[in-house]
Amino acid sequence: MTVWAVLAAAGSGERLGKGRPKAFARLGDEVLLAESLKRLDQSDWVDAIVIVAPPGWEEPAILVAEELACTKVSASVPGGATRGESVAAGLREVPEDALLVLVHDAARPLLPGEVIERVVTGVGDGWDGAVPVLPIVDTVKRVRGEEIAETLERQDLVAAQTPQGFVAPVLREAFGGDVAGVSDCAAVVEAHGGRVRAVAGDLRLLKVTTPEDLELVASWL
Ligand code: C5P
Repeated sequence: MTVWAVLAAAGSGERLGKGRPKAFARLGDEVLLAESLKRLDQSDWVDAIVIVAPPGWEEPAILVAEELACTKVSASVPGGATRGESVAAGLREVPEDALLVLVHDAARPLLPGEVIERVVTGVGDGWDGAVPVLPIVDTVKRVRGEEIAETLERQDLVAAQTPQGFVAPVLREAFGGDVAGVSDCAAVVEAHGGRVRAVAGDLRLLKVTTPEDLELVASWL
């Protein structure tokens, strides 16, 4: 098996305010986790999946996979206190002979198959990783308190999404250090000198943070 997906689903979802982890918030007829899980499982580009669940929710995550008749889930492991630690925990389940690792946020439930394809096929040919991005339409400014300190050149800026794909040994090496504060896998690979390619993202990959986001994504199902 060559392409492994690590599905980061261990967030607490406090801002969602559902009284349960975000991955287990209801979305349509299922839980949020189910959407990206089934889309990864159905993708011909993905061979195996590791779910990183909120601690204590590893078994419910497996039940979700069983209900969806997923065939590629290899493990469900407890996450850490931060996203970086959760991804590291998932990465430890990926075998040495894996070629490529995709890291996806369960908080982005609507995962188009075309994006998986663009990311997987975007790695290689000298690229250590690939990240789906969207152009930024608003002008972006840096502020210091109430004062605008700087206006950034918009044409060079993009918003990064997931799934992000990496050559497995490169990601493993980049995650060898302290990754507790890491919110973006590509940032660690870039910091280790890796070449990461930007591929086209998708508006449907909206990250669910607030109840309004959940309603919006539900309306797109
Ligand atoms: O909190 P936020 O939505 O930014 O998290 C992004 C993704 O990282 C989510 O899918 C969430 O489940 C995951 N995460 C995690 N472990 C944490 C924090 C976040 O797997 N400790």
